Amino acid sequence: MFQINENYQKLPGNYLFSTIAKKVNAFQEANPDKELIRLGIGDVTQPIAPAIIEAMHSAVDEMAHAETFHGYAPDLGYEFLRKAIVENDYKARGCQVEIDEVFVSDGAKSDSGNIQEIFSENNRIAVCDPVYPVYVDSNVMAGRTGTYDKNTETWSNVIYMPCTAENNFVPEFPKETPDIIYLCLPNNPTGTTLTKAQLQEWVDYANKNGAVIIYDAAYEAYISEDDVAHSIYECEGARTCAIELHSFSKNAGFTGVRLGYTVVPKDLKCGDVSLNSMWARRHGTKFNGAPYIVQRAGEAVYSEAGKAQLKEQVAYYMKNAKTIKEGLKDAGYTVFGGVNAPYIWLKTPNQMTSWEFFDYLLEKANVVGTPGAGFGPSGEGYFRLTAFGEYENTVKALERIKSL
Ligand SMILES: *Cc1c(COP(=O)(O)O)cnc(C)c1O
Repeated sequence: MFQINENYQKLPGNYLFSTIAKKVNAFQEANPDKELIRLGIGDVTQPIAPAIIEAMHSAVDEMAHAETFHGYAPDLGYEFLRKAIVENDYKARGCQVEIDEVFVSDGAKSDSGNIQEIFSENNRIAVCDPVYPVYVDSNVMAGRTGTYDKNTETWSNVIYMPCTAENNFVPEFPKETPDIIYLCLPNNPTGTTLTKAQLQEWVDYANKNGAVIIYDAAYEAYISEDDVAHSIYECEGARTCAIELHSFSKNAGFTGVRLGYTVVPKDLKCGDVSLNSMWARRHGTKFNGAPYIVQRAGEAVYSEAGKAQLKEQVAYYMKNAKTIKEGLKDAGYTVFGGVNAPYIWLKTPNQMTSWEFFDYLLEKANVVGTPGAGFGPSGEGYFRLTAFGEYENTVKALERIKSL
């Protein structure tokens, strides 16, 4: 008789987005005349930039002829894309990353969920609270997190690092020493980030304690301030302690196209075992490459035209972020984020819980956002609005909120 991976049974249902959908549907049914504005889910709305579409079209045409057809892609990704990544995302910033340290994938969600496989089951993870749920859930599936406490909504073997207004959303070094530290900067859901000097302290901490940092840079393109690192490899010593994840979803609108990459430096070792070789082995065994057409699209992200068009796209979303942030401030809210990330994290007014505020905003302003408690216990009392909507709708949503 077969047995299941019992760890899956430990997962509490992730009711966040299904609860939101249920509440929204019920409201819409009861109020069919009300026009809802959705500033909840972290998906983009702008179409793929023309330079990228052009590159995809020509790659599609190549696939139609025997002479230019492409079958399986190389395990780690096509050299043309890895070269563009190294030149633009690293060399141009003065970071040392080599082509054979870049692993092209179908996105940062899978990489952030899979990367834990190359570490011991006994390793202890540390996460920020609130947090992108994939980091914790993938470790639950692997049996690394201990038992779940329903009351505190925490796992016995996970180290939580609260990030709240009280500590300016800067995680503090935990009392117990973690083996694996997940950092997502700029952060989803809080929209805040660390300065390069603060990140350097984490790199030093990891090197000193023999920990590895899994650094999720999905929102790197939204950084607007000079003292914020675009890559953890801008910090000294990061090559011996950090793995960096990138996505093309938020900077180039690839949420439906699917492309990402992970950097594992060859200097990152456990004794004399190279994590780069381990991840290469894992990639070669379990992944058969991102599609040729999509990798050509990724290459176009780094073309002159692509870069110019994406700069505009990011600016479009950041104009939304500014609209939300300033509109909320005018309405008397306490707000965070929205400067280096497309997320605004607001303090709920009048001691409302984050779900109470969700209902209030839905019913009174017909605006949908995301309750902070859905991202972890320290998200209680906060609420996330995203800048990924259309500008006209964002302006309208803020007018409604201001007139409450
Ligand atoms: C959106 C997002 C990603 C990107 O995931 P993809 O699989 O590349 O679309 C990764 N990490 C965080 C924190 C995100 O919010």
